[in-house]
Amino acid sequence: MTTIDATFQLHRSTSPLSDAERASRLQAIQFGRVFSDHMAQVTYRDGQWQEPTVKAYGPVALDPAASVLHYGQAIFEGFKAYRQPDDGIALFRPEANWERFNRSAARLAMPSIPKELFIGAAEALVAVDQAWVPHGAGESLYLRPFMIATDPFLGVRPSEQYLFMLIASPAGEYFPQGLKPVSVWASKEYVRAAPGGTGEAKCAGNYAASLLAQAQAQQHGCDQVIWLDAIEREVIEEMGGMNLFFVYRNGAAPVIVTPALTGTLLPGITRSTLLDLAASLGYSSEERRLPLTQVLADIASGAISEVFACGTAAVITPVGLIKGHGIEQTINNGENGPVALSLRTALLGIQRGTLPDTHGWLHPVAVAG
Ligand SMILES: *Cc1c(COP(=O)(O)O)cnc(C)c1O
Repeated sequence: MTTIDATFQLHRSTSPLSDAERASRLQAIQFGRVFSDHMAQVTYRDGQWQEPTVKAYGPVALDPAASVLHYGQAIFEGFKAYRQPDDGIALFRPEANWERFNRSAARLAMPSIPKELFIGAAEALVAVDQAWVPHGAGESLYLRPFMIATDPFLGVRPSEQYLFMLIASPAGEYFPQGLKPVSVWASKEYVRAAPGGTGEAKCAGNYAASLLAQAQAQQHGCDQVIWLDAIEREVIEEMGGMNLFFVYRNGAAPVIVTPALTGTLLPGITRSTLLDLAASLGYSSEERRLPLTQVLADIASGAISEVFACGTAAVITPVGLIKGHGIEQTINNGENGPVALSLRTALLGIQRGTLPDTHGWLHPVAVAG
């Protein structure tokens, strides 16, 4: 047993994958199905976070009455560790994920977690499982922190005990066949979030509630669902688990426009990164209300030249077609657009350390030994 990071106790796995087996799993990466050898864990009990540990990846024992299984106090985050040109490893904006995690925790009446434990868990796990951070272009190690309520009690009240964990899954190039625009279905039957609800929180229940709408989008031949506001079913909010941008042309200078954060949207870190990055590429940006009818008219008139979605997993995904009841509108002939591509190249370059990190977004991880 060794102490890493001054905080996390390391219990090394007694059966890590061999170098050859790991290499074969990193050859044909299956995102979200393969996990690194270890996981980090911190428990909350008696009003305190305790026993920060990194140990072998494996099942978790839960009491069948654990409140997460009944009332769904569960939140999560997602960010990535990227291989750098000098073979070092850097996390991308983990502080932003930590801040959002604690905002999600507050909304679900869960305790906040100190920065040293949240980021320390990522640093400790990446240090132990550094060989799992792939080297290929477009590849990374996806980090998934989450927190669940573990009180063995069926009463409806906030749990008094929680489990925080962090697991890691290698992520390959999201578009191995090359970047290709997706089609989206504007859902009027289902909504993701309502005013006063949990739309701003990254909680498990939001995803459970989204699955049927996603299935409906697929029945209509679309890749993803577009969420409209709950009241008018008209104002555009998000696409699946990603935020949206609309590229307006103001003469030659593009303006990237994204729905304003009203409280029902998830405040994406990629979204905020792109708003900051836009200026350095000579684009202006706006956050405002975007009604679907107006957006469709602006696409048809050519005022909108591109639409794209953004998020940690796929970075930037162009949208080539919007469908809905009585709606079918192609965007940019269903092709990738130059603004989405330039933002994508700029962001990937910063993440992979091939472009200067002028905003201080990279968080290097010490991986000695
Ligand atoms: C996580 C998430 C996003 C994207 O957030 P990033 O921080 O950019 O990864 C957007 N919408 C929803 C609903 C999400 O859960």
